[in-house]
Amino acid sequence: MDFASLGLIDPLLRAVAEQGYDRPSPIQAQAIPAVLGGSDVMAAAQTGTGKTAGFTLPLLQRLEPGKPAASRQVRALVLTPTRELAAQVGESVAEYGKYLPALRSAVVFGGVNINPQINRLRGGVDVLVATPGRLLDLYQQKAMSFDQLEILVLDEADRMLDMGFIHDIRKVLRLLPKQRQTLMFSATFSNEIRTLAKTLVRSPKEIDISPRNSTAERVRQWVVTVDKRHKAALLTHLIGEQQWFQVLVFTRTKHGANRLAKQLESAGIEAVAIHGNKSQNARTRALAGFKSGDVRALVATDIAARGLDIDQLPQVVNFDLPNVAEDYVHRIGRTGRAGADGEAVSLVSGEDQKLLKGIERLIKQPIERRQVDNFEPPAVADIPDEREPRSRPNGSRSGSRSGPRSDSASPNKGGQRRSAPRGADGKPAPRRRRRSGGGGGQRSGNGGNRASRG
Ligand code: AMP
Repeated sequence: MDFASLGLIDPLLRAVAEQGYDRPSPIQAQAIPAVLGGSDVMAAAQTGTGKTAGFTLPLLQRLEPGKPAASRQVRALVLTPTRELAAQVGESVAEYGKYLPALRSAVVFGGVNINPQINRLRGGVDVLVATPGRLLDLYQQKAMSFDQLEILVLDEADRMLDMGFIHDIRKVLRLLPKQRQTLMFSATFSNEIRTLAKTLVRSPKEIDISPRNSTAERVRQWVVTVDKRHKAALLTHLIGEQQWFQVLVFTRTKHGANRLAKQLESAGIEAVAIHGNKSQNARTRALAGFKSGDVRALVATDIAARGLDIDQLPQVVNFDLPNVAEDYVHRIGRTGRAGADGEAVSLVSGEDQKLLKGIERLIKQPIERRQVDNFEPPAVADIPDEREPRSRPNGSRSGSRSGPRSDSASPNKGGQRRSAPRGADGKPAPRRRRRSGGGGGQRSGNGGNRASRG
């Protein structure tokens, strides 16, 4: 199947061809005809499936023949949970719409000066991509109205709810004409999302491309068990040994992201933290550095990373496992995109075992365990005498490994000898045990995301 057979018009086909897409992805194959036919759509699809083109292309086509947007009017509104995603969707709209010059688009989100946005909206826009908070601010300032609104897209609806946007979304909905076409995209369809959908879409065409398992199957996944205190040193070691040059690292908290980025930096690995407390400019810079290769490790919290469009990201590391198993699937969905292979490695300490089990249940497959020489976790009671006594001074262990765990730790270059765990700064890993951060960490992670609201 090709794009032309989906009924797209020439200017869009040209733009798609320029992107180098040969075939529509499964979500595109289903969503494009449905949207062109005027149906409401409810689609389960996560980032990396091509969903942006799946709604942008038909949306542009539906707007093309209509009456241009009048002053301060908006004909299609795309709501996204984060600024990054808004910016990326805005870029896609501009790219795919480049041969439809009569259509005007704009992107608005918080954290930047509102006045240029007000000016931009003055003449009306055909497509407005917005985060909910800034949209409501602009509306209050009478920067736009929605009498001419034809299409609403809610992108990453599940994430919107996670981030506490439900009230903002309801407020926005009250401003929109009832007669409209509504498209709703969500990685998962929880009961909460279905409840929201009832007030949003009418007899929608439901599309489920079940990306879950296919994502999980495309990505090589393994877990290294390690003492929590040695995680930073292990990551430094793996980045060097495995020659990872572009690695997205997930931490649970903003504070954890900052600390890890510093540790990697002091070990000579260019690293930047990205989370909601960073200014928009800092985040844009970090992403650009990562894409260009200047930044080797991008350390991110879940929601800050969500929606980052990085083609063919080879490597994802879960420095902390996510508290919610679904987030693991989102995270590893960042790699192995658009058909490319990817690799996802999780650093797992004893206290993470329960989370790991939950993840394996969700993805319905066990994840391979590996150990890295000199980074083995302390023995625990339920692992019988597979290894030497655990009380060993740093570096004093002989090269031999005992017991069945002699599988090479390092997947590519097994059996290499390495020095004792070291801090990211090259010093021996600290012995100090930090208090575990549990639920507070999660709250803090969400806080980061809150700060990224538009
Ligand atoms: P999305 O799920 O919208 O974030 O898109 C994921 C990535 O896939 C983006 O980098 C797109 O440029 C790319 N992409 C979208 N559609 C296609 C397609 N039909 N063929 C190849 N790549 C695509």
